[in-house]
Amino acid sequence: MTEGGESERFDISVTTPAGPVTVSVDVPAYFVPIASIVPSMRRMGEAAQALEERRVVAQGSAVSCKKGCAACCRMLIPVSAPEAFALADTINTWPADRREATLARMADARARLEQAGVLSHLREVAASERQLGDDAFEPINRAYYALRLPCPFLVEESCSIYDDRPAACRELLVTSPAELCQDLERNPVSPLPVPLRIGTVLALLWSDLGGGPARFIPLPLALEWAERHAQEGARSWKGRELLERALDKVWWYLSREITARQPAAHGSSIPGQGIPQP
Ligand code: SF4
Repeated sequence: MTEGGESERFDISVTTPAGPVTVSVDVPAYFVPIASIVPSMRRMGEAAQALEERRVVAQGSAVSCKKGCAACCRMLIPVSAPEAFALADTINTWPADRREATLARMADARARLEQAGVLSHLREVAASERQLGDDAFEPINRAYYALRLPCPFLVEESCSIYDDRPAACRELLVTSPAELCQDLERNPVSPLPVPLRIGTVLALLWSDLGGGPARFIPLPLALEWAERHAQEGARSWKGRELLERALDKVWWYLSREITARQPAAHGSSIPGQGIPQP
């Protein structure tokens, strides 16, 4: 650990199912909102994911996901509350024209979802005070995917928030041929195992800090949810306390994943979040 004026640097080491990961994290000495923990948690998840990719390459396989292939950007992306707040913060820094164009695409997406009778289910998920497991998401995921609705952040088949995209998007990688992803319901695709689901870690952290279930918000509703809960998003914690509580969730997740990792976890074409069951 090194100490600086207003922040401390910690080297955090964790053992993931893909191998040991160490990331350096700058932790503010002052009070910060929940969204501030999101970038360092994502870096930890990406470091673990990189190990998983290396393992796959060593076995003679390769990740087939490439820039310009956005087949998975038609799936329902679940976003944890801290990520929803972080996304709202990012969008609020954009120039007005970019922000308005994005909000208009979000509104279009919601209109299409409403027309298809899916929006009310997504709103129930976002507002649920009950812990929903992967099984509760399954029919909603399927109904959503059947629409092949492009993500509101997809512009000319490229992610317009690539550096700020949710953890769930970062974790969706396959080793099967890319063309199979055009129909995830019919085709047997091979998703890369996810050693550390950061969206789940952040959802658990928010549940711990704010009460309620480990909540996932469907991406098209993330900004309106963050706006509605802006007061909660503005609460703050000492940087170090926030990190320690986030790491508690990381360790909880990893201990569970290391012991429970089994083939069934990689078998579904439309992956879940490994949400704790009620
Ligand atoms: S946020 Fe980006 S990567 Fe994720 S689904 Fe939307 S366009 Fe695709």
